[in-house]
Amino acid sequence: MKKELRKAVIAGNWKMNNTPAQTTALINEMKPLVADADCEVVLCVPYIDIPAAVEAAKGSNIKIGAENVHFKASGAYTGEVSTDMLKEAGVEYVVIGHSERRTYFGETDQTVNLRSLAALNAGLKAIICVGETLEQRELGYTETLLKFQTKMALTNVKPEQLKNVIIAYEPVWAIGTGVTATADQADEGNGFVRAAIAEAYGADLAETVTVQYGGSMNAKNAEELVSKVNVDGGLIGGASLKAQDFSVIVKAASK
Ligand code: PEP
Repeated sequence: MKKELRKAVIAGNWKMNNTPAQTTALINEMKPLVADADCEVVLCVPYIDIPAAVEAAKGSNIKIGAENVHFKASGAYTGEVSTDMLKEAGVEYVVIGHSERRTYFGETDQTVNLRSLAALNAGLKAIICVGETLEQRELGYTETLLKFQTKMALTNVKPEQLKNVIIAYEPVWAIGTGVTATADQADEGNGFVRAAIAEAYGADLAETVTVQYGGSMNAKNAEELVSKVNVDGGLIGGASLKAQDFSVIVKAASK
């Protein structure tokens, strides 16, 4: 295992939280707390907050991401936002296929693949979420499902585009529930994701891809989770809304 080949990425996913004014205040509070990070620090924020976030993060080590992107370049897609719009606004990362989008907004493995291709072809970094439900885990399908979702998401992604791919393993039963996967479960799930990438692209390339864990990661459990060989940082929901907690997670990933 070659963890040293990969830079850890700690990404906050704010979901539908914070107005533009609250965005400015929270990022200003976070900036000094994460300034010494030895990992990538990203905040993925609602579309309406992007200009405020980009402005507040200017000159700091915080990168800004979006929480979704449409796969068409432009046209009659009311309510959607394109890669060009995000890039011009200063966005560098985009979350794709979050379980909340899969559950509430009809996201499928096919649309996750289309969004991933659009983001990568535009030069954005894609944080692609995969994860099993509790029922799927109890039926013994975790490995099959994680490999299938990973391969589907990466269909037609070129090997040279993998440097802009981050996969976030997020067990659905651990997101926003306060129930965290054990460090061993996180490591195993991330290992299944990496094995799927190896099957598609070869082991050497798979070793270079950042695979995060997400699901109730917090200031208390982050250090143990990110110490695992297959866990290259995290996608953080609730704890990314609190500057102090988020900075503790960033510090854990910087060790
Ligand atoms: C998420 O939104 O991706 C997430 C992992 O949320 P939480 O940390 O709140 O479980």
